[in-house]
Amino acid sequence: MENRVIGRFAPTPSGRMHLGNVLCALLAWLSARSSGGKIVLRLEDLDTHRCPPGAAGQLEDDLLWLGLPWDEGGSLGGPHGPYFQSQCTSYYEEALHTLQQQGLLYPCFCTRAELHAADAPHLSDGRVLYSGKCRHLSAEEIAEKANVHPPAIRLRVPDGRIAFLDRCQGLYTQDLAREFGDFLVRRSDGVFAYQLAVVVDDARMGVTEVVRGRDLLSSTPAQLYLMRMLHLPAPRYAHIPLLLAPDGRRLSKRDGDLSLEALRARFRSPEPILGLLAYLCGLQEKPKPKSAQALLEGFSWEKVRREDIRADFPRLLKKL
Ligand code: GLU
Repeated sequence: MENRVIGRFAPTPSGRMHLGNVLCALLAWLSARSSGGKIVLRLEDLDTHRCPPGAAGQLEDDLLWLGLPWDEGGSLGGPHGPYFQSQCTSYYEEALHTLQQQGLLYPCFCTRAELHAADAPHLSDGRVLYSGKCRHLSAEEIAEKANVHPPAIRLRVPDGRIAFLDRCQGLYTQDLAREFGDFLVRRSDGVFAYQLAVVVDDARMGVTEVVRGRDLLSSTPAQLYLMRMLHLPAPRYAHIPLLLAPDGRRLSKRDGDLSLEALRARFRSPEPILGLLAYLCGLQEKPKPKSAQALLEGFSWEKVRREDIRADFPRLLKKL
């Protein structure tokens, strides 16, 4: 058994990367490589209609331009393929079956409007806590409703708290039933849910370290619970700060001037961009241009700040 660190990039190839994705890829790469580990590239293209043809290839090209090569996955292939989630359905089916056998799943017929009813409690991450409405349907009710439209499949969460130590955010605990709720493992259109797919694939690819945005911190206890129920080993986690606009809004693909397309048109090399990100997240004291390779020296999670990074990014980039 190999015991070196296996990190991963797990982007959704729905368009060009933006600055926030670059920070995530950089920290995942630095964390794995600085300890002699390797990086797997997995394309999270479950929602195929959101992932235009060519986007995955473009993403790979951007990672290479950034100087963040991976060791396995994507078009490189490797021993743990497929590396595109759209090709992994049989693994998710198998996991679904294991959960089903333990009586953990139930069909859910709730419509969007029902889920988002005015009195539904909203969670800190913006999601809505599921009411449990379909938890106790009888076999007759299920048969009758399934005649009208196919159900989604939900996993019943237990009472009790789940805790884990995050390398960036510290100790995180969550009351799964009250703060996350019964969650979807398959949508009514048959597409497997992110929560199930990510757990199955990280285990299948031997991932030992997950570095991703802090927005996914609240999903991690649910994923840890899934791993327990599927008898899969849990990786270590580091949930990194998000990049926010001055008004607190999260940067997204809509911020066109922060996309890799715009950045590559403006900068001849990735060093100014990586140096700025390294400075903003606490890895260096000045926004000095640096390659990913050069940032390996002195990398430590102790230096990485945990709070989100709020800044006028277009202005900062102009100053470089
Ligand atoms: N595919 C997700 C994204 O691009 C990342 C999921 C993960 O890292 O677990 O935001």
